[in-house]
Amino acid sequence: MADFKLADRLAALPPYLFAAIDKAKAEVAAKGLDIISLGIGDPDLPTPDFIIDALHKGAQKPVNHQYPSYVGMLGFRQAVADWYKTRFNVELDANSEVVSLIGSKEGIAHFPLAFVNPGDTVLIATPNYPVYGIATEFAGGKPEYLPLLEENDFLVDLEAISDETWQKAKMIFVCYPNNPTAAVATREFYARLIEKAKEFNVIVVSDAAYTEIYYDPANKPLSIMEIKGAKDVAIEFHSLSKTYNMTGWRIGMAVGNPFLISGLGKIKENVDSGIFQAVQEAGIAALQHGEPHAEKFRAIYKERRDVVCGALTKAGIQHRVPEASFYIWSKVPEGYSSSEFVTNVLMQTGVVLTPGNGFGAPGEGYFRISLTVNNDLLKEAVSRISNL
Ligand code: PLP
Repeated sequence: MADFKLADRLAALPPYLFAAIDKAKAEVAAKGLDIISLGIGDPDLPTPDFIIDALHKGAQKPVNHQYPSYVGMLGFRQAVADWYKTRFNVELDANSEVVSLIGSKEGIAHFPLAFVNPGDTVLIATPNYPVYGIATEFAGGKPEYLPLLEENDFLVDLEAISDETWQKAKMIFVCYPNNPTAAVATREFYARLIEKAKEFNVIVVSDAAYTEIYYDPANKPLSIMEIKGAKDVAIEFHSLSKTYNMTGWRIGMAVGNPFLISGLGKIKENVDSGIFQAVQEAGIAALQHGEPHAEKFRAIYKERRDVVCGALTKAGIQHRVPEASFYIWSKVPEGYSSSEFVTNVLMQTGVVLTPGNGFGAPGEGYFRISLTVNNDLLKEAVSRISNL
C-alpha cells in the first residue's frame, strides 16, 4: 500500500463545521431518533418555477453547451449591475466591477489567493462563516480574529484594533447581515471601516449573502457599496443562493473595486471555467423578476422567526430577535458549553443545532437556529428543547 499523506494545510484544519454536523446527524438517525435539522442555512423552499423555466430554455441552446466565459456572460454581469442599481442605488460597470462566481463560497475561497502572500495578516470578524479563515490559511496567510461582542451589537469594534494591527493587515473580512449572529451593519460602521481601510491600505471584503432576508422593509440591510469611498477599498460577495432559494445552482457574484475584481478574475481564469450559461440565464431571470418571490419568502421566514422567538421566550432561552437573515443566535443555558448543549439536545431530542463555538471562539456560550424548516417542525423542535 502506498503511504499518502494529506498536505499540512489540509491536515491541520478541523473538520468543516457543516460536514461534521451532517456526520453527527447521520449517527443519531442510525439509532432511530427522528431528526429535525436546524443546523444548516439551506433554504427548504423550492426555486421559483420561472427560474427553472429559464434554465430549461437556456439548456436547449447549443451555444450554451460550450465553455462559458471565466468571468461570466456580460448579460449576467449587466443584470447584477442593474440589480445593484435598483436595490442599493449603486452604479457598477458590468465590464470591470462585476464577476460571476460558482456560488459566493467559491469566490470567497479563492479571493485571498489573489492578494495574500504567505505570512500576511488577515483580520476576520468572528464568529464567522468558516471559509474566511480556511481560505486565508490555504493562501498561506495568518488569520487574526476580531471578536464580535453582544455589547457592540456584534459589530467589529474598529476603535479597539491597534494601529499596529491595521498596519500589518492585508485584508479584513466582515459579514452583514451576519451569519451566525444576524447582526446588521449601520451606515456609520461601514463609513468608519472604509476610512480605516483607506488610512492603512487594507482590502475590505464584505460578505453580503443575506441582505435580501430582512423583516422590516423600512429598514433594509445595506450594501457596503452604498457608502462613499467603498469602491476604493472594497469587494462585496453576494449570491442568488439565499435570496431565491438557489443554493444548489451555484451562482453568485462579486462586485466593487475593479483591481480587486480583476485579481479574483485572474485566479478564476486559472482554476475554473465559469458557470454553465443556462444557469447564468436563469440567474438573469431571477435578478430581473425575482423580487415578488423574494417578498413571499421573507413573509414565510418572518412567520417562522416569530414562532421560534415566541417559543424560546416562553422556554426562558435568551436570544436575539433577528432583523435580517434566517438565523436566531441564542444563549446556551447556564452550566453548559455550546458543544455540550448542542450534543445533549441532539442525542436526547434529535434536534440539530449549530454550536456557537463552531464559528470561532467568541461564539462560545451560544447556539444557532436556522429557520429553514416549516413551522410545524420548528414548533416541534422548540417544544422538544423546552421539555429537555
Ligand atoms: N456567505 C455566508 C455568510 C454564508 O452563510 C454562505 C452559505 O451558507 C455563503 C457565503 C455561501 O453561499 P453560496 O456559496 O451558496 O453563494
